[in-house]
Amino acid sequence: MECLDKVKIRKEDLGIIPLPKKVDVKEGFYKGSLVKIKKTLLQDENQNESLTQLEKEAYVLEISSDSIEISAKSEIGLFYGEMTLRELSMTFDEKIPCLYIEDKPDFEWRGFMLDCARNFYPVEFIYKLLDALALHKINRFHWHLTDDQGWRIPVKEYPLLTEVGAWRNDCRYTWEEKVGGFYTEDEIKAVVKKASELNIIVIPEIETPGHASSVLASYPNLGCTGGPYNVESRFGIFDDVLCSGNDEIFTLYEKVFDTVCRLFPGPYVHIGGDECPRTRWENCPKCQQRKKDLGLETTGELQSYLTVRFAKMLEERGKTPIGWDEVLEGTEKLGLPKSLIVQSWRGLSGGETAAKLGHKAIMSPQTAGCYLDYKHRDTPLEPGMIGVTTLKKSFEFEPTTKEMTPENKANVLGGQGNLWSECIYSSKLAEYMIFPRLCAIADKLWTCEGNSDLKAFMNRLDVHKKRLEKLDFLFYNGDVE
Ligand SMILES: [Zn+2]
Repeated sequence: MECLDKVKIRKEDLGIIPLPKKVDVKEGFYKGSLVKIKKTLLQDENQNESLTQLEKEAYVLEISSDSIEISAKSEIGLFYGEMTLRELSMTFDEKIPCLYIEDKPDFEWRGFMLDCARNFYPVEFIYKLLDALALHKINRFHWHLTDDQGWRIPVKEYPLLTEVGAWRNDCRYTWEEKVGGFYTEDEIKAVVKKASELNIIVIPEIETPGHASSVLASYPNLGCTGGPYNVESRFGIFDDVLCSGNDEIFTLYEKVFDTVCRLFPGPYVHIGGDECPRTRWENCPKCQQRKKDLGLETTGELQSYLTVRFAKMLEERGKTPIGWDEVLEGTEKLGLPKSLIVQSWRGLSGGETAAKLGHKAIMSPQTAGCYLDYKHRDTPLEPGMIGVTTLKKSFEFEPTTKEMTPENKANVLGGQGNLWSECIYSSKLAEYMIFPRLCAIADKLWTCEGNSDLKAFMNRLDVHKKRLEKLDFLFYNGDVE
């Protein structure tokens, strides 16, 4: 067997996703025990304080015939070295090729969003996903917890949010049957704990001021007309939103954010802000009084009034607010808090504008490969809705554009793949929509510059698909464009 030890594996056959910065494959194989990995923390006390997140996430992995060593400047770097090693051991079992890898991410925000409002996914599925996110070195789990079709987080001062707001008529089967559910505090804590062990920050999203049917069905006094309202069983954009002239909405959201900030120790809370029609505000005496009191020119500016109020509530609780790119509209008079991070979804331009204005931005454009609820291909047989996101398109995604100045680019934290779940009725179907497009997005968020060879990615993906199979994930396996 001596000669086999001289065999050198081709670099692409390692199939590492996301693509490492530098890989040297050497002759021979490691044949020891994976239990005996040497981890070295390169600690320099003076330096550690000033390390950027990207430096903290960097690692070196060295595999020789008789040793495996991971070194990094922080525990997070050691963890990512382990994730690379985990991929290799899943492919090569106990016989891992000798190699040297030096690696570091390009973007600090490498995210994935799961919509648990339109379809309620069991907590076990979230655990399974978190494990896969970590393997892909994704470090942000954006948890969409409230929408027109369901409210998924209990708030003890407002019990109807889950007693009423978590359930809707299931019009797919019968008008009688209620579907839905919510996560208990213990389940939420367990998700946050598991994520934290995997170096993933959980970002809860509590939608304001639109997509609010589940809140209004629970507490109809918070809407402009007073209701009655239903938790929506249809999908779309609805005119009934939070009444911007009613101070009781702030009383409720103070308590909601108390609960959210207690359960989610991470630095961010998402306040939504997308797709909020002004129809009710135009015709509501309270909203029009508010507009007059604030001296606003247009009813649309009431949204920035609400964004500022909600963002302030979170800042008071030590959190950084995030909003979808619509928060940039109608801000002529009241502006936006500088701390607000803008998440660009209708394209890249919202993120570009935000970055120019000095806001941090997250890119998750529906137009450029980040919407995972879209079909994989434009054929009637593929599941999905609205548009098409081919695997090629996801691989071509880049969070910054050529038009951006270096200063603006520095404001782009990174990007995200989003799975909305209007038509994604089961966890298995969710897997099929997520993979392998999220593999491509993760690849680009870790290594963007110089990573544009689709064929090379597909070669790595061939190896990587076996890992997805081992982890029992269903994935799309058809044409890439
Ligand atoms: Zn109103």
